Amino acid sequence: MEIYSDGIFLTRRLFGESQQIVRIFSQNSGLVSGVVRLTSNPKRGALYQLGDHVRMQWRARLEDHLGQVTLERQANQYISALELPALALQALMSMGALLQAALSERVREPVLYQASILLLEQFATKNWARAYLEWERKFLEAMGFGLDLAQCAAGCDRRRFDYVSPKSGKAVCARHAEPYRERLLSMPLCWREVDDVPHSNTVDMADIVAGLQVTGHFLAREIFPEGNSMPEFRQNLLEKLHRNP
Ligand SMILES: [Zn+2]
Repeated sequence: MEIYSDGIFLTRRLFGESQQIVRIFSQNSGLVSGVVRLTSNPKRGALYQLGDHVRMQWRARLEDHLGQVTLERQANQYISALELPALALQALMSMGALLQAALSERVREPVLYQASILLLEQFATKNWARAYLEWERKFLEAMGFGLDLAQCAAGCDRRRFDYVSPKSGKAVCARHAEPYRERLLSMPLCWREVDDVPHSNTVDMADIVAGLQVTGHFLAREIFPEGNSMPEFRQNLLEKLHRNP
């Protein structure tokens, strides 16, 4: 069995003395793990970093074997992890950790793959925090829990929402939020349908944090419900953004 695919490099760890186990989020087959031999060139596996755009070949005699992987660096790279500012690097690591923790081996996730490439492109811009928040929303959607922020959870026809229901993931208008305000999540400004507020391009980190609190609530409840199983990099990201608004 063989897989050829473009992919995003996620992690590597030593496996025995001369091999590494690597994980790739591939375009054609989703998460793929395999062994890279280091014998012929000890530095070869170590060349790759989280977020690298690679061409992957995976081979195994049987489908359920941990296959052999050979990697090639793509000519077009979206980012270099080592050159990212500290907070953006933290977001990149969170992305890598969430993908690894939640994706199933060799299950294709084309929409999430495209969203992840888009996020990598945005890491080179000032818009990375907003892009990361949108990526988490796509991630939730791909995992089967999309937020529905187009209508009020109470079924009214208002178009302006200040809250998100922590139960349904739907928007809640100010009027229907009134009796439960304490229990609702704040809708970040960047997700509100605002006709009366001029759209601003400046990134308000506090607003991004509000958004990550919404996605974080559903990540914890839907995808990482066991105790404290949310990846540490995701937890760290929120703490760090809080400290450096
Ligand atoms: Zn309403």
